[in-house]
Amino acid sequence: MRINIAIDGYSSCGKSTMARELARELGYTFIDSGAMYRAITLYFLRHKVALDDATAVAAALSNIQLRFERTPGREQSHICLNGEDVSEEIREMHVAGQVSAVAAIPAVRHFAVAQQQEIGREKGVVMDGRDIGTVVFPDAALKIFVTADIQVRVQRRYEELRAKEPGITMEEVRANLEARDHIDTTRAESPLRRAADAVLLDNSRLSREQQLMLVLSWARE
Ligand code: C5P
Repeated sequence: MRINIAIDGYSSCGKSTMARELARELGYTFIDSGAMYRAITLYFLRHKVALDDATAVAAALSNIQLRFERTPGREQSHICLNGEDVSEEIREMHVAGQVSAVAAIPAVRHFAVAQQQEIGREKGVVMDGRDIGTVVFPDAALKIFVTADIQVRVQRRYEELRAKEPGITMEEVRANLEARDHIDTTRAESPLRRAADAVLLDNSRLSREQQLMLVLSWARE
């Protein structure tokens, strides 16, 4: 029987890597819901949408089409914004700096959640984000809430970003993670919370392989 698996947690605690590997092992579809909020943010930045202008936000959303696409030979699916592959650009700091403010707008959340729920209708989806176990798939058969020490998270994200943005400092990365966590946990609309029935997973001291084995055993229970 195929199930949906919801993975939530703070920024940069390895949720997407874990979700992707878990989906691969189970033959499921992996969906990085954060990529959807990042792509929406990129559109808003490019079109200079004022976040406090509800009419402009609604008009912008009506012009946005998001799709996850698989290229044969490339393991990772990539996200397309109105047909353009933006999976690289959405990882840059100019997007990271704005995404939590954009994701706090109720109309943006409704837009993204409706699409996420549609993707999950057929089951067999591993989705990671901030509200997957609480809002998107409240009935998911397995929910995991991931945490890791802030220093571990900063180090991981810094290593990832350094190759692409050589000037970046650890302090900038830490400030961005803390700011996003703050907005994500305090926003009015579906704040980041551990669902009551989610398993807590602190991966600060787990290798990727150890973590994968653990979550696979939960998924197969
Ligand atoms: O997962 P990632 O760090 O790429 O997500 C980027 C941002 O998108 C988060 O900091 C959060 O503000 C927002 N987000 C959200 N709900 C989700 C996934 C991401 O609010 N389900």
